[in-house]
Amino acid sequence: MKIVNRTKWKTEQLRAIAKEIAGRYLESNERSRLTVYFQPSKKWVHGEANVGRPGSKTQLLYTKIWLPNRFTPQHPEQRLSVIDSRYARSFPGASPLRASIASTLAHEFAHNAGRRGERSMRADHCPLGWAAVHRGEWDEFETWPLELAQPVTKQKRKTGDDEALAAVEQRIRRWESKLKRAQTWLKKCRRQKRYYESKIAASAPDTGSSVVDG
Ligand SMILES: [Zn+2]
Repeated sequence: MKIVNRTKWKTEQLRAIAKEIAGRYLESNERSRLTVYFQPSKKWVHGEANVGRPGSKTQLLYTKIWLPNRFTPQHPEQRLSVIDSRYARSFPGASPLRASIASTLAHEFAHNAGRRGERSMRADHCPLGWAAVHRGEWDEFETWPLELAQPVTKQKRKTGDDEALAAVEQRIRRWESKLKRAQTWLKKCRRQKRYYESKIAASAPDTGSSVVDG
């Protein structure tokens, strides 16, 4: 199993969770063909996977898990959690982050192992559905370590003047490029004008140009 971690969480800690779940849902020959991508998400944890062909020895498998780089400490237990806006109607509040990652990995690994049928997987009482997190079925992973690789440093906040300057600089660049285009077109038009002027001059009846001898 290959791990590609594009989030700010520690790779070894994500790998440990993925390894545990892969051990439950995938055969060893499936694990060896699998790449798990961890990618940053704006809000909730979600995933994607290709469906494995049972019996295949060559098919490459992938699972992608999106998870937030930041977390909200959940009030009573101070667990890492994510604002669960996607399922806010059914499950108001926040979801525990590690349990959500574990549950999503399990769901996607089940796809990798060949399982289809989103409806049945998400049905009530199926441990592969999102609701399982809220039922606490994945809470065992809440004790697993998960930390940011380096502390997030606060970015220097841009002042209003900084933003105004950047905006006006961009407007200048845009007008400068428009000016350049206008000059190019003017050049072309003037060349055409000269062409037609000389063409007309050449075809005009020869009047007045001849000198009449007195
Ligand atoms: Zn699915």
